[in-house]
Amino acid sequence: MTRTVNSVCSYCGTGCGIKLESDEKRIISLIGDTRHPTNQGKLCSKGRELHHTVRTDDRLLRPQLRTSLDAPFAPVDWDTALDYGAQQFADIIREHGPEAVAFYVSGQLLTEDYYAFNKLMKGFIGTNNIDTNSRLCMSSAVAGYKRAFGADGPPTCYADIELAEHFFIIGGNPAYAHPIVFRRLEAAKEANPDLKVVVADPRRTDTCSIADLHLPLRPGTDVALMQAMLNVLIWENVIDRDYITQNTQGYETLAESVRSMTPRKAAEICGLNAADIVQAALWFAENRTLSFWCQGMNQSTSGTDNGNALTNLHLATGQVGKPGCGPFSLTGQSNAMGGREVGGMANMLAAHRDYANPTHREEVATYWGVDQISDKPGLTATELFASLESGEVKAVWIACTNPVVSMPDAKRIESGLKKAELVMVSDAYHPTDTTRFAHVLFPASGWAEKEGSVTNSERCISHLEQALPAAGMSRPDWKITADFATALGQKLGKNWQSSFAWEKAEDLFNEHRGLTRGMDLDITGLSYAILDEHGPQQWPYPEGSIPRVAKRLYENGLFETPDNKARFVDMTFIPVAEPVNEEYPLSLTTGRIRDQWHTMTKTGNVPALMQHYAIPQLQIHPDDAALYKLEEDDLVRIISRRGEVIAPARISKDIRKGLVFLPMHWGEMTAKGGRTNSLTKTAIDPVSKQPEFKHAAVQLESF
Ligand code: SF4
Repeated sequence: MTRTVNSVCSYCGTGCGIKLESDEKRIISLIGDTRHPTNQGKLCSKGRELHHTVRTDDRLLRPQLRTSLDAPFAPVDWDTALDYGAQQFADIIREHGPEAVAFYVSGQLLTEDYYAFNKLMKGFIGTNNIDTNSRLCMSSAVAGYKRAFGADGPPTCYADIELAEHFFIIGGNPAYAHPIVFRRLEAAKEANPDLKVVVADPRRTDTCSIADLHLPLRPGTDVALMQAMLNVLIWENVIDRDYITQNTQGYETLAESVRSMTPRKAAEICGLNAADIVQAALWFAENRTLSFWCQGMNQSTSGTDNGNALTNLHLATGQVGKPGCGPFSLTGQSNAMGGREVGGMANMLAAHRDYANPTHREEVATYWGVDQISDKPGLTATELFASLESGEVKAVWIACTNPVVSMPDAKRIESGLKKAELVMVSDAYHPTDTTRFAHVLFPASGWAEKEGSVTNSERCISHLEQALPAAGMSRPDWKITADFATALGQKLGKNWQSSFAWEKAEDLFNEHRGLTRGMDLDITGLSYAILDEHGPQQWPYPEGSIPRVAKRLYENGLFETPDNKARFVDMTFIPVAEPVNEEYPLSLTTGRIRDQWHTMTKTGNVPALMQHYAIPQLQIHPDDAALYKLEEDDLVRIISRRGEVIAPARISKDIRKGLVFLPMHWGEMTAKGGRTNSLTKTAIDPVSKQPEFKHAAVQLESF
């Protein structure tokens, strides 16, 4: 007996729809969903192989426990694992207060899972110490949207791709990281050869295959480039003065500020030609411009400013909330947006509310039936692991993520986990680099084994149906959280059971939906039934909404700020945190390759995905290779102030001189030469707290 269900790819924020045919034991076929508006049946190499990641040999199938990291894990039943974890958590909370515990979760969780973790930590344990790997991914984009528009609302939709006259792609390689979005960009360019494409990236990536102009700027110089572009627009008087007057604030201050950032000065800072900067600026103003950005802008100590420098260009040209234009952040993970919607980060509350706003805290506390929500900001990702290292945080629950590979300065992450009194990990896979540091392992149901919802880059919510029974004794993360909440409440002498008594994922969706009423992301009109009948829907979707209408935000020119006007954000160009010098003369940048995902716990299981790159390689310019007497495939030691990695050289003119590139995916368990994030630095953006993965100063040693 087989059945076919709707699902969504679990990797990138493109959010491609999938049809899964399964029997009781396995997935029989996987194809792109031709009715899904995002991908219309197409899937990239990773999505096509997703079924091979479900029932693998390294699935964690039952709870496991050990009381010290020296001891081997012992398989236990659920009650024993939950009781042990809850007792330890309760003891720490009683002795040191709720700030001594933390959750570190993931943009790979479904919205319902995310909601449960956030409710338990902020509503019941009583601290905002829940952060997520989305901090490494999109937090700068979030902070930039909030500064410019007053809310975390990406204003664009995929339908704008076919309406645009110019794509400005900066700090992103969608050809690798968002391949199905890129297919749409390619198709748009093919259908309209007059459409201009500018790609600003230190490397000539595959995305440049459609570029009319490539700007190979130095890492960390995005603000200088875009300030100079704005300078050109003002000088050439191609700004939209009516739009600026009616819909924005702060233009005059910014216009004065960018006068000193001439194209010539920016060219020097960025390592570009001044004429190319002028050309990019003019194309931006003369055409309907749809901008795309991703980690190249976000993973920077200027990440928030980078996003705002881009929104400044759109506001100055009146290109927000109109067809075919606007700033479009490509979300890294399949449900980074859903996590933001439930407020599953240390500086957010549910449904885009703000922990610092007393009214918002009161609304959430009332809805959850608790006395209060803490007004203290929670620990963000890098702060959380630093607090484990210092001993201020003593227990952590890590869900669906592998920070020992993905966090910067990875050895310090290991050090923090070793010092913790309790590390609980819920994951579908074991061993991983992170489960090596766990005391308690909770087996989590994986993709296709649970029901729920996700939101993609264009605010489009999809319903994922369950295709397979849960593997082994695994449970959905929301269920593990609910069971843990009940056990923890008992240990603390409280009855929390009724607040976590969900029977199915839909119960959580409906509870989350109720909290969105009246907010910018109001989905009170949406249900699993509507999603099943009409397919994925974009938010907002308040009661009375009509299905299947593509929506962009701010079409009426009204923003979510107190006076409904968007904000120009003034800023100063600030160089990278760790400049190169004689001892560390090269800039290391990191990123993704086409066929791997994050830390390879899933894609590393699929032989077909190892064909593209089987091992991590150091991309290096021929002039730099000659300096170090390197030939293709020669092993080279890459050394930063924090660690070292050995990798073969891949000599290429597609990378700037003075810059080297390593993929971020491999960990200590998967790469003999060491993990890339042993080299990166814990330098963070002061607003978003996102780390600067896109630059670290390194030296090389050839063998
Ligand atoms: Fe999955 Fe992204 Fe590929 Fe679509 S583009 S199939 S969402 S990895």
